[in-house]
Amino acid sequence: MIPVSSSSVQFPAQKSHMNRSWQQLFSESVLSPEQLIERLQLPPESLSDLISGNRLFQLRVPEPYLNRIIPGDITDPLLLQVMPQIAETIATSGYVTDPLQEKSNNPVPGLIHKYKSRILLITSGACAVNCRYCFRRHFDYQDNALSKERIQQVQDYIQQDTHINEVILSGGDPLATSDLRLKQLLNSLEQVTHLKRVRIHTRFPVVIPQRITDDLIEILTASRLKVVWVFHINHPQEIDPLLTEATKKLIQAGMPVLNQSVLLKKVNDSANILAALSESLFDAGIQPYYLHAFDLVQGASHFNVTDEQAIRIWQALQKELPGFLLPRLVREIPGRSSKTILNTDI
Ligand SMILES: *Cc1c(COP(=O)(O)O)cnc(C)c1O
Ligand code: SF4
Repeated sequence: MIPVSSSSVQFPAQKSHMNRSWQQLFSESVLSPEQLIERLQLPPESLSDLISGNRLFQLRVPEPYLNRIIPGDITDPLLLQVMPQIAETIATSGYVTDPLQEKSNNPVPGLIHKYKSRILLITSGACAVNCRYCFRRHFDYQDNALSKERIQQVQDYIQQDTHINEVILSGGDPLATSDLRLKQLLNSLEQVTHLKRVRIHTRFPVVIPQRITDDLIEILTASRLKVVWVFHINHPQEIDPLLTEATKKLIQAGMPVLNQSVLLKKVNDSANILAALSESLFDAGIQPYYLHAFDLVQGASHFNVTDEQAIRIWQALQKELPGFLLPRLVREIPGRSSKTILNTDI
């Protein structure tokens, strides 16, 4: 357990994680329902529900994220994203384990090719945090781990298709990978002359901002490939000074930072919250990009917002924001050649 200091009242562990390495913070994550209840002073009677949900998908929350959750508040929008619930054990019809049909677009293990100009790489099986609504919560990462041999296969695959100009590092979380492995991957991708960009889809800088080290920035800016970041932030309470500081470093190093959110019941399913999110993102230097309609993944039906509700929320959001802070409301529909923008004109 992280030591609790007695000096500050509301966030007792406020300072304890400031000077720790990201590897330490990652390995010291809260991984059990018992620890979560103790650390956040949750009602003890919720333990059996947490244990049931946790059997299907392991709880994982590191200290810098715990630190932004209000202790004792069972409705906290950050807590709801990470806390196992009994609802996860209920099989709901229409909900599947691979909602995006990624298994059928997998020419090389770990490589998903659906859209003409870009491929997505499962760079790591691990994440900084386990989000209960994750559409890859059932993904078989064992089969897709990006070994050295596979990096070569990926390079060969991109080499033979000149339409591909961008590689998206996804996961799991690509930043759960060591700097060394990331460097090897970048070096390999750089060999492909028709590649222009590498995009990093990550929640690490949000959950453990200490992951953005000077060494990492140096590796990325040394590459001839242009690096673009896409963070995953769902609620304004997730944005804190450490994240803002990390983001500033990336921007100063010449890398644009975008954000995608997932529309989640009881977390951010209101125009007010989403407007505050866009404003806070902008203050932190982050450009809103996508608002994803919820994917029907088995075990997460308690987060579902219907498309009709999503469109209504988005229309209300449009009235609150300038166009450049309005995320595109999209859904990934298997078989299509791009994300689908939900019809917001009805
Ligand atoms: C979402 C996604 C992308 C990226 O789509 P953009 O619209 O370029 O952000 C690429 N490949 C796959 C398989 C995806 O799911
Ligand atoms: S960080 Fe992303 S990939 Fe990992 S559990 Fe959360 S939503 Fe899923």
